[in-house]
Amino acid sequence: MDTKLIITVAPTGSVPRKKHTPHVPVTTAEIAADALRCEKAGASVLHIHTRDESQNPSDDPRRFRDVVRALDGRTNLILQISTGGRAGTDLESRRQRLSAGAEMASLTTGSVNFPNSAYVNPPDLIRGLAEEMQRRAIKPEVEVFDLAMLHNAIDLMRAGLLQPPVHFNFVMGLKGAMPARVEHLAHLKTFLPVDSTWSVSGIAAAQLPMAVHAILMGGHVRVGLEDNIYFRKGELATNAMLVERIVEISRMLGRPVAAPDEARQILGLRRRT
Ligand code: ZN
Repeated sequence: MDTKLIITVAPTGSVPRKKHTPHVPVTTAEIAADALRCEKAGASVLHIHTRDESQNPSDDPRRFRDVVRALDGRTNLILQISTGGRAGTDLESRRQRLSAGAEMASLTTGSVNFPNSAYVNPPDLIRGLAEEMQRRAIKPEVEVFDLAMLHNAIDLMRAGLLQPPVHFNFVMGLKGAMPARVEHLAHLKTFLPVDSTWSVSGIAAAQLPMAVHAILMGGHVRVGLEDNIYFRKGELATNAMLVERIVEISRMLGRPVAAPDEARQILGLRRRT
């Protein structure tokens, strides 16, 4: 395991509210402060969602810009904007988030059912977002909720809309999508294009075991309250606690953790000025 481990933290997401856990950051100031704590703990990528005054997922590109600005000059974290559509939006509003000034953005290459809704990403929308990322030199993180999405991304590569090396994130354990099974992970890995990098987001109780599998299999890890609010059964986590635990486990397993600039090198990013 020569490659250092990239830890992405997804602190906010679209689902957890303060009533579920007081530790979820929802305002710009809270997200920025939590990001700095997570960077100190060992994270190198920050996956950003924003919320409105009622804690609902916000689609307002200004809020994404606010988070990026709030961190400007204070962090070396790689900022990654979510282009996810739980805020219930169309291509144009999702595309506008890409003007926030982040180095990376998520790109989900297909549609999937969530527990109580459908997460709809039609082909035109996927291509539109991929084109805009290319235009702005933003590196996509391809979000894979099932096997078809991996192959859709390979098609996008063939069409010149994704540039290798492509970075994938396998979301596993979300009800309605791909179960969190190491067998599935091994299978997905088989089809990855050469030179790709990949990480795993295990949902809820699957976060820790899937992270450990990924560390051992040469992948990278995403943790955070977006995917899981518990440290262990019955005990709420903070984002920094979840990052710290991965750092500790990875070190114990003999795999050092990447600092942000090392993560940039692994992902083939150039620092944006
Ligand atoms: Zn997200």
